[in-house]
Amino acid sequence: MTALPPNSTIGIVGGGQLGRMSAMAAARLGYRCHILTPEPDSPAQQVSAGVTLGDYEDPAALRDFAAHVDVITFEFENVSAEGLDLLASLKPVHPSPAVLRISQDRIAEKSFLNGIGVPTAPWRPVETFAELEAAVAELGLPAILKTTRLGYDGRGQARLRTPDDLAPAYAALLPRPLVLEGLVDFACEISVVAARGADGGFSAFDTVENRHRDHILDVTLAPARIQDATAESAQAVARRVTDGLGLIGLLATEMFVAADGRVLVNEIAPRPHNSGHWTIDACPASQFELHIRAVAGLKLPAAVRHSDAVMKNLVGPAETALWPTILATPGLIPHLYGKAEARPGRKMGHVTRLFPRGALPGEFGVAASLGVLAGVE
Ligand code: AMP
Repeated sequence: MTALPPNSTIGIVGGGQLGRMSAMAAARLGYRCHILTPEPDSPAQQVSAGVTLGDYEDPAALRDFAAHVDVITFEFENVSAEGLDLLASLKPVHPSPAVLRISQDRIAEKSFLNGIGVPTAPWRPVETFAELEAAVAELGLPAILKTTRLGYDGRGQARLRTPDDLAPAYAALLPRPLVLEGLVDFACEISVVAARGADGGFSAFDTVENRHRDHILDVTLAPARIQDATAESAQAVARRVTDGLGLIGLLATEMFVAADGRVLVNEIAPRPHNSGHWTIDACPASQFELHIRAVAGLKLPAAVRHSDAVMKNLVGPAETALWPTILATPGLIPHLYGKAEARPGRKMGHVTRLFPRGALPGEFGVAASLGVLAGVE
């Protein structure tokens, strides 16, 4: 793969904030971006050279999009793999549609991970109610029942605590097949964002800790406050996954640190990830730059972290209403995504707070460092 020359155009499927921040990184490297999205005035379009407004399944829109670009990537996973196949017949697509197919389907994903020796929570595929009962008998309760496709931020899943929970959860979750997962008694949730280039070059950011609220990422601490051996296991898992996929691009591996110290993969996402937003401010080359470099066939720089960081998402109306105060608070680095309406649960922006390397504060210090944002419900 030859390096994409400056002034070339990178096509990004999806118009959200991940596309927006990728386009901003691409611009710094002298590339233009062209977005495919059905949404007018999307966050990514606002900072890009062009847009094809159309549906991800519409062959005419896909062809128009492909005609405007030199190489194609995607910023979210709920695009159809068939659509990406059509794009791949017209222009290079990185990561490949084969990688997307694995990450889009929890059964394919867990089968792939276990097949390369990467542990996950115990799981069973579930098509019929009888299969659900058999799976619960094997894995026990509590457990989590999830749809295999189109789930994100906690949507499409139900916690099963008692046998009475089975029937309503089974009826509510569609389409089938579903996946039953044993509940992991985790000490914390962590992730590693890593890139792999066309030449096999590999760069991984440090392992970070993620805290969720209402199933949505709330805070990321970089680096994770975990034992060195655990952080290294997570790095090794991320390497095994990226190499196993033959990835060209960026991939986030979300993991649980179990109470006994084992690292189990929850899910993988072959794109920039919310738990990597801190890299914009704490690293010379961010996750978005590594993503663009990999897609453009450039050599990957090392994923160096010059500072420790706390990243806090701005979700929904209450946190977004604090924007003027955030702007007036020294030390909070503000990022807003250009979305018109702050609906509940919608990611509107984030803030980053930097600390000298090795000086990430303890719990009270982290809360204090977020100022007005600490504890907003
Ligand atoms: P997911 O949609 O699979 O990323 O799950 C969203 C969140 O639900 C995770 O970040 C965890 O906090 C929790 N979760 C999902 N699966 C499990 C599991 N098997 N055991 C414990 N917690 C889980």
